[in-house]
Amino acid sequence: MLLSEIAREKGIRYFLISFTDFFGVQRSKLVPAASIDVMAENGAGFAGFAAWLDMTPADPDVLAKPDIDRLFPLPWRPEVGWLPADLYTTDGKAIEQTPRLVLKKVLERAREMGYSVKTGVECEYFLLSADGETIADARDSQSKPCYDQQALMRRYDVISEICEGMLNLGWGAYQNDHEDANGQFEMNWMYEDALVTADRHAFFKYMVRSIAEKHGLRATFMPKPFAHLTGNGCHTHLSLWDLAGKRNLFLDSEGELGLSSLAYQFIGGVLHSAPALCAFTNPTVNSYKRLNAPVTLSGATWSPNTISYSGNNRTHTIRIPDSGRFELRLADGAANPYLLPASLIAAGLDGIEHHRDPGPRRDNNTYTDPLPSGTVRYLPSDLREALQELDKDTILANSLGKSFVKSYLKLKYGEWRDFNGRITAWERENTLDC
Ligand code: ADP
Ligand code: MG
Ligand code: MG
Ligand code: MG
Ligand code: MG
Repeated sequence: MLLSEIAREKGIRYFLISFTDFFGVQRSKLVPAASIDVMAENGAGFAGFAAWLDMTPADPDVLAKPDIDRLFPLPWRPEVGWLPADLYTTDGKAIEQTPRLVLKKVLERAREMGYSVKTGVECEYFLLSADGETIADARDSQSKPCYDQQALMRRYDVISEICEGMLNLGWGAYQNDHEDANGQFEMNWMYEDALVTADRHAFFKYMVRSIAEKHGLRATFMPKPFAHLTGNGCHTHLSLWDLAGKRNLFLDSEGELGLSSLAYQFIGGVLHSAPALCAFTNPTVNSYKRLNAPVTLSGATWSPNTISYSGNNRTHTIRIPDSGRFELRLADGAANPYLLPASLIAAGLDGIEHHRDPGPRRDNNTYTDPLPSGTVRYLPSDLREALQELDKDTILANSLGKSFVKSYLKLKYGEWRDFNGRITAWERENTLDC
């Protein structure tokens, strides 16, 4: 069915043809329904350099071709339909550095190995005042605000509108709660094929920000907006299935914690590549204020410090909450919805290929009872360290594409240099009288 016909049927007047760049920014053209069929066929034109892509102002346009089977009518404005798109050159070649195409490529590799991949994400966010300065709800000030019914229900209008949107889109939304920081919320929907979840993840961020704006608020997924409060995680749950998507290959009732040896190899691969993986799961300067962080007001950061896995214990990089899947607790709200699963799957597939042993399960509370030094590896302490790890890595680069990783590093090192060029308040406080 043509998009113009769908538009007539659903009352859609405009389409957003949207692609996500390296830094997770969504770039769009708003196309009237009358032009959508031609535009969907030919692609919408963009100057690549104007987005966070490794291009120059002299490069030819890039063409964003929408995935016409992935239409998301905006729940808060149903006359507009959102379409995730992939980038092509004017002579029809796929542009390898497109984050969504990087994910597709890794998923294709998984398919060649005989696996389909299913993921679920938990996208925590804060609701702030419209200027972004303070937590919007001044009464939300308890030291342990997690699951706080009163504070949750003061935001019922926003939360229920977002949840209703997910239900109408058929995502299987199943719960909403107040999270561990003041002003912080989480909304959960069912896991799905990794590309479906990635498109939903991208759309979820757009939806939350938009509905918050509609209510005079500002939503942020920033990893650590307030130093004394728990940050925004983006926990990612993952399982491998057969190609038909019917049999969960991570499930083994005889296996330790209900996981198969395939799952442990995958986890072994993720832990092996964890330092380089951080360049994608924790992609901003601010990300490293959430990791390895001092204790927060609530009593715990809920984010990892060590490259380790555990059972149903929320203090490690990987948690095994249930049989047949694991949870990566590393990623944060700044992670690119496409590059996060792409890099995670790339690391895990390498673990399977090389039968990587994840080592022993760690059952300690890493906050109060850290493992003796020398017995466990620590996560990178800042963005530069993570980028250097990615620079040294070959595993992720082989899977994601060497030229993509080179381009990504180029832009991210630029971001680090930009940050480093700033004189901070801390420096003045501590050095003015030196
Ligand atoms: P928690 O807060 O305990 O980590 P949530 O309920 O917030 O858990 O999120 C769990 C996520 O894991 C959901 O998106 C859920 O659909 C997903 N999930 C459950 N089972 C699987 C599985 N087998 N594979 C991938 N994701 C899964
Ligand atoms: Mg123009
Ligand atoms: Mg959760
Ligand atoms: Mg949470
Ligand atoms: Mg979780």
